[in-house]
Amino acid sequence: MYGDETYPVTNPASGSTIANVSKAGRDETQSAIEGAQTAFRSWRRKTAKERSKIVRRWGELMLENQHDLATILTTEQGKPFTEALGEVAYAAGFLEWFAEEAKRIYGDVIPSHKANSRILVTKEPIGVVGAITPWNFPLAMITRKAAPAIAAGCSMVLKPSEETPLSALALATLAEEAGVPAGVFNVVSGDAPAIGGAIMDAKVVRKLSFTGSTQVGKLLMRQAADTVKKLSLELGGNAPFIVFDDADAAVLGAIAAKFRNTGQTCVCANRLYVQDAVYEEFTRKLAQAASELKVSEGFCEGACQGPLINAMALDKVQAHVADAAEKGGEILAGGKPSELGGTFYPPTVIGNANAKMMVTHEETFGPVAACYRFSSEEEVLSMANESDYGLSAYFYSVSAP
Ligand code: ADP
Repeated sequence: MYGDETYPVTNPASGSTIANVSKAGRDETQSAIEGAQTAFRSWRRKTAKERSKIVRRWGELMLENQHDLATILTTEQGKPFTEALGEVAYAAGFLEWFAEEAKRIYGDVIPSHKANSRILVTKEPIGVVGAITPWNFPLAMITRKAAPAIAAGCSMVLKPSEETPLSALALATLAEEAGVPAGVFNVVSGDAPAIGGAIMDAKVVRKLSFTGSTQVGKLLMRQAADTVKKLSLELGGNAPFIVFDDADAAVLGAIAAKFRNTGQTCVCANRLYVQDAVYEEFTRKLAQAASELKVSEGFCEGACQGPLINAMALDKVQAHVADAAEKGGEILAGGKPSELGGTFYPPTVIGNANAKMMVTHEETFGPVAACYRFSSEEEVLSMANESDYGLSAYFYSVSAP
């Protein structure tokens, strides 16, 4: 990290400041990019096996420090400690996997159009890679990008979410301990548009990997045109979750798909379509199960619904619920701010949802399950596909329709 200016990182469960971290902007990002470009020259020359060993060790160190990493994660992001432990293992898995894959980056031999020649394809690390990650998986979204890039011989400039820089910094410390050379993995957190602008303007940054909102993804896509950067974008979702008449374990599935990370994942179910014959039973059981989920700060025993990340997230959830109630939605569980205050919001189930509601068209990113009724498969497919999003979808049926 660079720079004299700092900004506070808060614990979303209490609103209190847990650390002040250096606030990077354009200049700091440019110097990180230069460092990454220098480091790239020697990192790319290591053998695949040498890189593999280091990346693998990085993953092992994550597991050796699982408890500490999960503590940092829950403190700055709010998710229950058990979910945080799970995320550390999930995130470490990317390092292990790509350490192995990097030893098998094979090329190709292609028949040529000329009798006396052969075409060889060799794969080369592309150069400095930019990564911009969100706060909902502060470790896993980083290792999912850093592991393949660094194992392949690239260097990286990472901008984690300004909400959760501490997990990223802890990862950088472990990278150093694992033997990742200085300059190969760089973390810059702070002024998002300034850092993003510097990454996108830099010619030497040959590729960007981004996970976050569709709005910012579109902006980055436009900015990438100037230097013709390669892009990998993982953007928003508004997942349909379809329950057919012959559904069985759908309530359990819906709880997992909707309320994980307090509904703050891009693959969370947002629109639950339930077939007539099971609608009453499903919504009753879902409302019951949702109201039994314990809402509390992440270190509490049995905590399964932590706080929302910030006040803006809470506003959005409240706006979606108020809008649904106004447009004929029936609040079957939750629906009012939690007595815990702050950004806590209880798991909420809305019945009688319809296409006019905001929740039908926008990603809620919170613990709100809107249930719609349908009668035929044809009807539900057109309802489910009536969306600009395409990230994920679920259906429950004993026999696939
Ligand atoms: P979310 O709504 O999940 O916070 P964002 O797309 O706003 O989604 O955030 C995802 C990542 O994108 C974060 O690291 C954030 O700081 C970053 N980001 C936000 N605005 C910009 C921008 N103008 N340029 C580059 N990165 C940005």
